[in-house]
Amino acid sequence: QSLTRIEEVCASHNAPAQPRTVYEFSREELQNAIIQGEIQSYFQAQISVQSRKVVGAELLARWHHPIHGVISPLHFIPLAEQTGLIKPLSIALFEQLLSYIEQWHQQGYPIGASFNLSALALDDKKMPDLLGGMCKNAGICPSTITLEVTESLLHKSEANAIEVLGRFSLIGFNLSIDDFGTGYSSLEQLKMFPFEELKIDRSFVQRMETEQVSETIVESNIALGHRLGMSIVAEGVETERIMELMLNYNCDKAQGFLINKPTEGKQFGLWLKENWNK
Ligand code: C2E
Ligand code: CA
Ligand code: CA
Ligand code: CA
Repeated sequence: QSLTRIEEVCASHNAPAQPRTVYEFSREELQNAIIQGEIQSYFQAQISVQSRKVVGAELLARWHHPIHGVISPLHFIPLAEQTGLIKPLSIALFEQLLSYIEQWHQQGYPIGASFNLSALALDDKKMPDLLGGMCKNAGICPSTITLEVTESLLHKSEANAIEVLGRFSLIGFNLSIDDFGTGYSSLEQLKMFPFEELKIDRSFVQRMETEQVSETIVESNIALGHRLGMSIVAEGVETERIMELMLNYNCDKAQGFLINKPTEGKQFGLWLKENWNK
């Protein structure tokens, strides 16, 4: 594969996902929703590619809006970030996460969980101790939680980000680099941050079936991550064929619609029960 072709393909994956419907929510509306508990935790399972056993779950936020129904995070996370509501929102969701982890562990499912950290959390030096303190109060070890940070975010405010990520890591959280492949990280940058995990963006994963260059990119990103000692997650796995490719390329974990669609928290407990010994 020529390098220019690979760059072309990566650039085409760089556009952020755009929701189809446009809502005009106000800050007050979102703030009320957070207070009323309308923003809820959905979970998508992560399985081991080798054994197909469930090893974890990623929290994906949804707004249960009284009029519009279930609303995608793409419609309210940016608003939360622009209006300063991302901190209370993140805290509310992290609280929900801790309570679900506790339930799963009590029910005999000792899995870990992944939580998406907003870019703004990395500018806030109080965040690591805040989330660490919440874990402590809940009696949950931070090492059961993986914090996902998008690749593009590492380029902003780097000095702060290194300090904050270092602190998260010291407290015991696992760190994961999300949407990998869309943001041009250099090896040097990757080495500066203490990441345990690398998540290959679903745009690459999904095009593997039809596009040789995407397969090459996924294969080399898996090898790169492994060389840096990271565990690799493929996101957006929708077909058995892609699961097979992931097994061939030695990818560690997979998540996607093939395994489950993001499922409301209580329902996910039932899903775990049904799928635990499969
Ligand atoms: P992400 O972290 O890259 O999450 C993966 C997205 O891919 C999710 O979209 C998920 O529903 C979707 N997905 C998973 N498997 C498949 C599949 O097989 N096929 C397809 N077509 N899609 C799949 P979702 O839930 O709409 O979330 C969008 C983004 O919103 C997330 O992207 C994440 O960046 C952000 N987000 C979600 N929850 C939170 C949160 O609690 N806090 C923050 N800061 N961001 C969040
Ligand atoms: Ca994520
Ligand atoms: Ca992702
Ligand atoms: Ca993504």
